[in-house]
Amino acid sequence: MVLKYILFFILHILSCRREEAMKRELVINPAWCKACGICVAFCPKNALVLTQGTVTLNREQSCILCGICELRCPDYAIYIKSE
Ligand code: SF4
Ligand code: SF4
Repeated sequence: MVLKYILFFILHILSCRREEAMKRELVINPAWCKACGICVAFCPKNALVLTQGTVTLNREQSCILCGICELRCPDYAIYIKSE
């Protein structure tokens, strides 16, 4: 019986975290990006690339929404949006 409650609790926590993650997304404002490459250099997942004078998401790598790029960008051109 106790095991059942523990299992239910763990599943509930995992479900909440998944919902939380789904509500967050990376936003890039190309109008403010000066293509300095700071965010690209600091991204731990290599999820960003510089193309045509702005930064874009590298779809082959997965962004983990850590927020490091947001912290490092001097122009507020990249950030994590939460609902
Ligand atoms: S949020 Fe983290 S993983 Fe995603 S692009 Fe920015 S630095 Fe990279
Ligand atoms: S750090 Fe900011 S300005 Fe520099 S490339 Fe990244 S998003 Fe653009």
